[in-house]
Amino acid sequence: MHRSLFDSAGPPAAIPRGADPGTLLHDVFGFAGFRGEQEAIVTHVVAGGDALVLMPTGSGKSLCYQLPALVRDGVAIVVSPLIALMEDQVMALRQLGIRAAYLNSSLEAEEQRRVRREVAAGEIDLLYVAPERLLMDSFLEFLGTLPLALFAIDEAHCVSQWGHDFRPEYLQLAILHERWPEIPRIALTATADPPTRREIVAKLALEDARQFIAGFDRPNIRYRVVPKDSATTQLIRFLRDEHPQDSGIVYCLSRKRVEDTAAKLVTEGWNAAPYHAGLDAETRRENQRRFVRDEVDIVVATVAFGMGIDKPDVRFVYHLDPPKSLEAYYQETGRAGRDGLPANAMMTWGLADVAQLRRFITEGEASSERQRVEHHKLNALLGFCETSRCRRQVLLSYFGETDSPPCGNCDTCLTPPETFDGTVVAQKAMSAVVRTGERFGQGHLIDVLLGNTNERITRFGHDRLPTFGVGGELDKRGWQSVFRQLVAAGLLAVDLDGYGGLSLAEEAAPVLRGERTVELRRDPHPERGSGRKRGGRSGRGGSAAAGLTDEADRTLFEALRQRRLELAREANIAPFMVFPDRTLLEMVAARPTSRRELGELHGVGQVKLDRFGEEFLGVIRQVG
Ligand code: ADP
Ligand code: ZN
Repeated sequence: MHRSLFDSAGPPAAIPRGADPGTLLHDVFGFAGFRGEQEAIVTHVVAGGDALVLMPTGSGKSLCYQLPALVRDGVAIVVSPLIALMEDQVMALRQLGIRAAYLNSSLEAEEQRRVRREVAAGEIDLLYVAPERLLMDSFLEFLGTLPLALFAIDEAHCVSQWGHDFRPEYLQLAILHERWPEIPRIALTATADPPTRREIVAKLALEDARQFIAGFDRPNIRYRVVPKDSATTQLIRFLRDEHPQDSGIVYCLSRKRVEDTAAKLVTEGWNAAPYHAGLDAETRRENQRRFVRDEVDIVVATVAFGMGIDKPDVRFVYHLDPPKSLEAYYQETGRAGRDGLPANAMMTWGLADVAQLRRFITEGEASSERQRVEHHKLNALLGFCETSRCRRQVLLSYFGETDSPPCGNCDTCLTPPETFDGTVVAQKAMSAVVRTGERFGQGHLIDVLLGNTNERITRFGHDRLPTFGVGGELDKRGWQSVFRQLVAAGLLAVDLDGYGGLSLAEEAAPVLRGERTVELRRDPHPERGSGRKRGGRSGRGGSAAAGLTDEADRTLFEALRQRRLELAREANIAPFMVFPDRTLLEMVAARPTSRRELGELHGVGQVKLDRFGEEFLGVIRQVG
């Protein structure tokens, strides 16, 4: 057995310098071993090297600077773009007995002075600061008086002017290298693409940094995309069947949709709150805080809700409307399942959404070249939505990882869609588009194909077209699927004005002439979903308790959860900061009876063992 750092001292005021990182990993963080490249990165930074770390969300990037911060002399400075993120991280670290603090504008002047005093006295190992604070002359001067362990630059993609998280202050961070060339710097991000990576290197002067690049797969996330039918009903069915008690995020395109959806969920008895840029800062902060602390289960949000959610146990991300690109999709879905436990990414989409997204692009301020790029990105997303291939393969190959096998954890893998020769139906659909003048949306076109008479049809004389009523082989839902797929395949184009009019794309000509065939997928029937039984086990694939089939196990898990919630409320912290779900699941599996056994479980470091150990052992003894 290895010797614990805490054997003689009890919970320490300071963790001894120069301790072995592996020992710290076990005793302080309660982890059994390093993951992926963590050990190599830690060793490199401890030795004084610069590093650029690109690893997906949830892969454990923070440990890569937190451990070196404990091993090296001096205080580690962590540049972090969001105040909420800082507070959460510092709070979580303090639960582990780590001497962390933050400085930002949310602190009173008196508090700020106290933190500075502690830092100056060498009582802080990790200091989190916002970039604008760091760059103040007075602060840089203060840093000059301190022994420094390292600089960590979190969310390093904020230097990218093209990215959606651009923060101008990040551009000036190269100053750290100029002033303190000998202090190691570690920049971290989960953003995948090579151009952003190059920008980070250039703007932060990281040319000599060693790069650690992990694969971008998030295997625990199950991806699913289904046609939008009746958006809210589908959402509620999903929540009821798969996540009746879990934390999750619902993304919508507009503020109004956020408000309406959140209100609807609340009326239906769900514990939901809205989040969008139109709400005042106080409400936004409060709703986010309640979410992180499990006081609110579901946040309905626009993309404004994103960076800064460090909550590890988000069990699902539901796109009520599609995002604008695969980059956005990857980033937003990536907020699910950071803890590595099963999580769901679900999306509903329809052509009306595409029309709206196109209009956003066209009405935006961007240059025409930029708009072209954005339309292109949207096309890639549509291709993903309508693919018959493994969704993970499509997603990963978009980010340059082309060699992954089918994943077995997405809807197309779980229920491979039937495909059929859709050449004739495609021709019929296209012909309806052409004969009506390439300006009508799918609803009207489907009326033409199905031979439905209504005021619009007769007004335009479309009941006299040769295409009128030729589409009896499919029903309305079937034709909607065809139109979506033709748009996704780039054979039909959605007008840019936002009304959803469809026109022929250039590539359509060979299909119409019969020189090219079209393969289409048949959508699984909505009620049957992806082969799930309602409330059945496989249907709960994204729930933390999904693997617990035994009734006694479930009861114990719930009891542990309840105790965790009470302890978190008492300590005024988020429940996951007491112990993450994974620890509770391990308690259920192992049923530890002693402190020693409990101490071996994931996430149980020395300080938490002292603080919470008896409480949980008590629950296990009682409920067993
Ligand atoms: P990232 O910053 O890359 O999104 P985090 O640093 O927040 O990821 O870590 C994600 C989760 O993984 C956290 O819950 C963390 O406690 C856990 N974790 C990190 N490293 C390890 C490890 N070596 N073993 C077990 N769990 C780990
Ligand atoms: Zn798959």
